[in-house]
Amino acid sequence: MQAIHFHIESFPKTLDEFKRLFNNEEKSLRFLFSKRWPNGFECPYCNWLDDNLIPTKTRTCGHCGHPTSITTNTIMHGTKKPLSQWLISIYWLTSTAGGNSAKDLQRLLKLSSYQTAWTWLQKLRMAMAIADKKRCSKTVEISSDTISLGGEAHNKPLILAAAEIVLPAGITGRIKMATISSFNSETVNSFLEQHVAPGASLITPEDTQYKLITGNNFVTITDPAIYRTKQIIKSFEIWINKIHRGGVAAKHLQLYLDEFCFRRNAEMLPDREAIFNLLLSGVISKKSLSYKSIISQSTTE
Ligand SMILES: [Zn+2]
Repeated sequence: MQAIHFHIESFPKTLDEFKRLFNNEEKSLRFLFSKRWPNGFECPYCNWLDDNLIPTKTRTCGHCGHPTSITTNTIMHGTKKPLSQWLISIYWLTSTAGGNSAKDLQRLLKLSSYQTAWTWLQKLRMAMAIADKKRCSKTVEISSDTISLGGEAHNKPLILAAAEIVLPAGITGRIKMATISSFNSETVNSFLEQHVAPGASLITPEDTQYKLITGNNFVTITDPAIYRTKQIIKSFEIWINKIHRGGVAAKHLQLYLDEFCFRRNAEMLPDREAIFNLLLSGVISKKSLSYKSIISQSTTE
């Protein structure tokens, strides 16, 4: 079967260029269709493959009869906004260094509601988490620290961080962070299982909890002089207080950690187009099903 291609001749260097490229819905649909269903429409309910390669926004499955749209079961699920706006947001997020606020997104898309912009940005952060799934491997430093949100003494969430050490140069590779309720062997082990590949050599501080690490064939090396993960947690603290002025609720903190890690890890990619494609892969991924509860809460669009 023939595959669907939508080739971007030269990847836009500016947001205006990008907007000109995706200045209509038909083009945006063709592009998204080629990314989500490169081999033709695949029913998300029964996996039936349709060999009709013409991109359409909605389609009824010829096998099970379920109606489906290009956004079904993705982060964009249920969106009423133009597809081009999603593409523009992805470009904007992956081409601005530092960070972006919901106010900026509201301005960019000329949205009347701040709440819509905020929800939209949260969804894109979920897409970042989905896309940036690759675990730290080989030699990995881990440690934890508290951060201060908005300079408030009572608001000090606990963060656990992992950072790959790329040998022999010793540069920092991939990073991962999570907010944990308390520091104990259970939270440490569950973090490691999710974010560090089996068989890694773990460099840890001297805390006894790290001596209780089990499973996955990890080798633990204690080093009281570790600094990388401490610095990463510190940079996150500075970043979140600068971009969002500390106005982030603890229950949403994980998505901001995911965004921070995505941005840092994306710096290792060759160019802006690769970063754009990485985030896009998260946006169209079916894995967003696990986030459905959060998505369904947002009905303001
Ligand atoms: Zn079907």
